[in-house]
Amino acid sequence: MAYFKDIQEGLSTALQGMGIVMKHLLKPKVTRQYPNPEDRYPMPERARNRLYVNMDDCIGCDQCARACPVNCITIDTAKVIPGENIGTTSNGKKKSLWVTRFDIDIAKCCYCGLCTYPCPTECIRMTDVYEFSEFDRVNLIYNYATMGADEAVLHSANAKKDEERLAIERAKQAEEKAKAAASAPAPAAPTATAPPAAPSAGGVKPPPFMAKPGGIKPPPFKAS
Ligand code: SF4
Ligand code: SF4
Repeated sequence: MAYFKDIQEGLSTALQGMGIVMKHLLKPKVTRQYPNPEDRYPMPERARNRLYVNMDDCIGCDQCARACPVNCITIDTAKVIPGENIGTTSNGKKKSLWVTRFDIDIAKCCYCGLCTYPCPTECIRMTDVYEFSEFDRVNLIYNYATMGADEAVLHSANAKKDEERLAIERAKQAEEKAKAAASAPAPAAPTATAPPAAPSAGGVKPPPFMAKPGGIKPPPFKAS
């Protein structure tokens, strides 16, 4: 019995397969020209592909690198000198580090997206770009930093010079102000003003009687 059942199953699956072949045989053929942008399949809204970093908003906090499970993010920073203002991010966070290196080895990346969650300025995100194959693996290390270490050092040195110049300028201004105050004529002594009249003995004087003659007369005194 099982023998005949196997034959029946074999025949029915073969017929099903032939049915699919016949259906496609009669359909018009379409060749998608894949590299054409119009023929690309649109990616879903939350697709996780190539990473992008907006360096204008990066504060160099290293949180994305620490979250990465495969250590493919490398960040180097340089401290700004005290008092140096290097601006704020678009969500109002004050920057206090120069980011001199921000490399992502995308060949190692497993597209988990874990680096994007802890970012306080939301400047690292995954895009829908998925075509970035290279012949050389080195080309898959993306450098996002816009400033080199030398440039940061130079900038800090210039900023330090500016700070020093500003401090000298301020000291000069304060000195000039003090000199001007010392050479100005002394203000005239205030003239003695007559002290207010002391209240008469016996306390406060009653106000003068204001009622005009012919005003309201007090009621006559009635003996009980
Ligand atoms: S997506 Fe994942 S693997 Fe890739 S850089 Fe971010 S944390 Fe690392
Ligand atoms: S978490 Fe965001 S702000 Fe911090 S270093 Fe990474 S990209 Fe920059």
